[in-house]
Amino acid sequence: MQQTTLDITRIRKDFPILKREVNGNPLVYLDNAATSQTPKPVIDTIVGYYSNYNANIHRGVHTLAQEATDAYEKARIKIQNFFNAAKAHEILFTSGTTHSINIVANGFSSFLTKGDEVLVSAMEHHSNIVPWQMLCERTGASLKVIPMNPEGELLMQEFKGMLSDNTKLVVCNHVSNALGTINPIKVIISEAHAVGAAVLIDGAQAAPHIKVDVQELNVDFYTASAHKLCGPTGVGMLYGKEEWLTKLPPYQGGGEMIAEVTFEKTTYAGLPHKFEAGTPNICGGIAFGAALDYIKNIGIEAIAQYEHELLTYATDRLLSIEGVKIYGTSQEKTAVISFNIKGIHPYDIGTLLDKMGIAVRTGHHCAQPIMDYFKIPGTIRASFSFYNTKEEIDRFIDGVVKAKQMLS
Ligand SMILES: *Cc1c(COP(=O)(O)O)cnc(C)c1O
Repeated sequence: MQQTTLDITRIRKDFPILKREVNGNPLVYLDNAATSQTPKPVIDTIVGYYSNYNANIHRGVHTLAQEATDAYEKARIKIQNFFNAAKAHEILFTSGTTHSINIVANGFSSFLTKGDEVLVSAMEHHSNIVPWQMLCERTGASLKVIPMNPEGELLMQEFKGMLSDNTKLVVCNHVSNALGTINPIKVIISEAHAVGAAVLIDGAQAAPHIKVDVQELNVDFYTASAHKLCGPTGVGMLYGKEEWLTKLPPYQGGGEMIAEVTFEKTTYAGLPHKFEAGTPNICGGIAFGAALDYIKNIGIEAIAQYEHELLTYATDRLLSIEGVKIYGTSQEKTAVISFNIKGIHPYDIGTLLDKMGIAVRTGHHCAQPIMDYFKIPGTIRASFSFYNTKEEIDRFIDGVVKAKQMLS
């Protein structure tokens, strides 16, 4: 096994929360796919904003308003650079991936009609299913599901067979939050483009763990949430190609998104403001930028490599426990392990692990169709980040063994 070059001990010092105890034990936080923890530089950015330059942006002539506006727009450029977008105004601030997807799904109401098709993968988070169902209900378009195999990989031949002139949109996650599968989105995007369909990729689980380059992918829309990227909750981004964002109608009406308003007619502001009605999460946006700086400093390639070491180590150790079944065994995976133990409800394991200070998630992970596919009510999910250690995985494995003994 390759050894990481990251100084994990030093990195862990940046995360105050990792020092706390839970139920009398040092915290082992393995719920990173639900939300990541926040490093000191991001916390300092939040405190710094409210301590020094809290003001509404874009409209003020005074110094604080200028400083807040500058910091917010600088954060937009940090996001642009992190995802390698061609233009800063192709990056929209949103409240998170869910909001980002809804902006696109709502906008496509103007473009779709009966007979059109939206293809969605079988392994989506509910937030990349429901908005498309609502869109299809509004427009009469139909939703088609790209199937997957028991390893949790999309069936690419079937996908290609589903594409036609009727396909207007293909939506898929880059990485599955419930299985960890890294989907072959480059192929998906180019095949979809070959029939003239637009593509939205839900990158909520990919951006924190692997390199993303929206220009190289040639993707039309890409989404991410700050809170999974060491940033705060309630802020995220939507990347859209300029040509698409220009065509797409605004999602919400209000202040900031207009050029001119009279009671007879309103003209909309240019990009990105057309999609940013109202006072945004200013502090959150700035902190999102600080979080991306933090990740960039560590290096996304180094993160990907180290997390892969953790995945291999944890998978091997977990499979040595009798009765463990892992869901999601794709060759290409991020450090997410969804599993069950024969005859034991996932919730019971999760509850006992919490007593030992170990945080994992149990349930359907907002992906009920995946659970239906495997005919299970849910799984236990351990998801790792670059600040986790092999010692923590050992404690997790010991915890699972102990919980299993107590429950069988
Ligand atoms: C977390 C997640 C979402 C939803 O993100 P929010 O930040 O809750 O809006 C969507 N898709 C995937 C794959 C996710 O992991």
